[in-house]
Amino acid sequence: MRARRATTAVRTPGPRRHQYDVLVVGAGPAGMAAARAAAESGSRVALVDDNPAPGGQIWRDGPGILLPPPARSLRHAVAAHRRIALFASTRVIAAPAPHALLVENDETALHLHFHNLILCTGARELLLPFPGWTLPGVTGAGGLQAMVKAGAPVGGERIVIAGSGPLLLAAAATARRHGAHIARIAEQAPLPRLMRFASTLWRWPAKAVQAIALLDGRYRAGSHVVEALGDDRLRAVRIRQGSGTTELACDRLACGFGLVPNTGLAALLGCRLDPGPDAIGVDSCQRTSLRHVYAAGECTGIGGSELALLEGMIAGYAAAGADDRAVALVASRDRWRAFAEQVRTTFTLDPVLKTLARPDTPICRCEDVPLSAIRAHPDAWQAKMQVRCGMGACQGRVCATANRILFGWPVPTPRPPLSPARIGTLMLEDSPAPP
Ligand SMILES: Cc1cc2nc3c(=O)[nH]c(=O)nc-3n(C[C@H](O)[C@H](O)[C@H](O)COP(=O)(O)OP(=O)(O)OC[C@H]3O[C@@H](n4cnc5c(N)ncnc54)[C@H](O)[C@@H]3O)c2cc1C
Repeated sequence: MRARRATTAVRTPGPRRHQYDVLVVGAGPAGMAAARAAAESGSRVALVDDNPAPGGQIWRDGPGILLPPPARSLRHAVAAHRRIALFASTRVIAAPAPHALLVENDETALHLHFHNLILCTGARELLLPFPGWTLPGVTGAGGLQAMVKAGAPVGGERIVIAGSGPLLLAAAATARRHGAHIARIAEQAPLPRLMRFASTLWRWPAKAVQAIALLDGRYRAGSHVVEALGDDRLRAVRIRQGSGTTELACDRLACGFGLVPNTGLAALLGCRLDPGPDAIGVDSCQRTSLRHVYAAGECTGIGGSELALLEGMIAGYAAAGADDRAVALVASRDRWRAFAEQVRTTFTLDPVLKTLARPDTPICRCEDVPLSAIRAHPDAWQAKMQVRCGMGACQGRVCATANRILFGWPVPTPRPPLSPARIGTLMLEDSPAPP
């Protein structure tokens, strides 16, 4: 009988140690493509993701969301494949041995042993601090996207979307479909750069069509948030465009300055990171600096779902030993890498965005540490030790990344546990003997 372990929380009675040929972490487009490619090539595959259903960020499921046909078909292929075991709602806690990960879900903890590992851990939003950014009603642009897909009611709300990158238009379109009124989309990139970008889109016709479909009359280039205003809740947003400043009344502000690769697990394992983009460094077959570890998708650089799918397939084939099939996809992948490079240069951040926070603006929002307390320190470690910057619930996922931009501080390598874990799980960390 075929296993159907697709969209529900994992049930794992029996032994707590499992052996696979290929373990894939992250079930977004890259991870699903990698798992399918490896399984089709004869490998026994485990696919782990901390969300309840596969899809990652772009194909996030929720009430009233109809996933596009490619997403549904890939999900079905993964769920139905007899050589793929899906561990949903499952978090990676530690890497107790070179070929084993300790994972945990609501029911149990497991050691997953593998011959090869593929990291498809995606990206998260870059949030930069500005006065008022911690007010209730202020989120990231991708954060708004995720909330609306999860069923947050935004009907009738006035929303300002700000920051940078294609995600602003996608978030605006989703919110509008759910009944919100979009008051402004403030893109920091200047108009001439956007025009140059638009003039290259004929090379990627699907993207040109998508861009036209998302166009919005409230989109303003060369503009950015200066301040969010309100007392116990957001009331208005101050936006600068050129030399003028406008105040817009609104119920929500969704502000994100692009994406940054999730490299925590890779850094913990000892994979080399590329310093420029702070992404996992890979070779032409998506292999990292560790022979048995591959990486694909946005953890290797921001590039969108088309690139993530191709990289995932290449990594899956290569990890399963089907090198010829991997190599056959390299040219297509490189065409999408060229698109990613266009996006990167178009939406490069204006240095003025580093100067929005005032001395009393919280930078570490979990521990309520203001800019004035942080900038007295020479590096992230001192700021952590002296004023608790990065020691709160998000463990620096937000402020360490912001401090990388504000002060140039390298993001600290995480230590286990990678996520909060049960005591019983941590007790397993020292016993990763093979099954
Ligand atoms: C908040 C947000 C919203 C976005 N919304 C859109 C959108 O609407 N439209 C669009 O075109 N693009 C969107 N993007 C961009 C999108 O991320 C990419 O286009 C695409 O999804 C990248 O695919 P991926 O497989 O590389 O990574 P992702 O889709 O990010 O998938 C990575 C998966 O790995 C899981 N994961 C990470 N670390 C671990 C771990 N340690 N243990 C277990 N699981 C882990 C994550 O939960 C996630 O499910 C969004 C990005 C973000 C950050």
